Amino acid sequence: MQRIAVFCGSSIGFKPDYALDAKKVGEYFAKNNIGLVYGGGKIGMMGVLADTIMENNGEVIGVIPNLLRHEEVAHTKITKMIVTKKMSKRKVKISKMVDGYIALAGGFGTLDEIFEALTLGQLGIENKPVGILNTNGFFTLTLNQLDYMVKEGFLKQSNRDMLLVSDKIEDLILKMENYQAPKMSKVVNTVASR
Ligand code: AMP
Repeated sequence: MQRIAVFCGSSIGFKPDYALDAKKVGEYFAKNNIGLVYGGGKIGMMGVLADTIMENNGEVIGVIPNLLRHEEVAHTKITKMIVTKKMSKRKVKISKMVDGYIALAGGFGTLDEIFEALTLGQLGIENKPVGILNTNGFFTLTLNQLDYMVKEGFLKQSNRDMLLVSDKIEDLILKMENYQAPKMSKVVNTVASR
């Protein structure tokens, strides 16, 4: 795991635990020489994470679409900022640079990004590990929804199991390092089950 994309809130949440979590992840990345690739913002969870890594002499690469660059949100004190023409191009750029993906607490943007990574894995387009840090059970309701999708026949258990979960960053990274992508992609499964 040389570089990991972390998706997380442009907000900070109501409880201090969330920022603390971003800080812990940042410290872990810097200490273990894991480079961060992220949305390039200086606000919310994103800002805390990027600042912590920079303070600890780590590597932070932001990938921001032109549209957001001109807002007052782009981080100016990171290792490198890559500007893309569109939101969609930004995702492709991020995926080419990283060995895996992690989500911390966030909103729509975070969910969109982590589920896109899972979708790429499910279709066999990528086989990189995808993890969520479930500190204080922030994602437990989301995980329950995924289990319900399996129960109702909309998600294969093997694809559900692609999503790695832990409430400790060191444990999550270990799971990511040992990750084996499912052998059969969703597409192959669908064809085979006809
Ligand atoms: P959200 O979870 O809705 O707060 O969105 C955060 C995620 O979407 C981050 O992982 C970013 O990649 C992206 N994002 C959303 N808003 C911004 C912003 N203002 N600046 C940079 N990235 C953003």
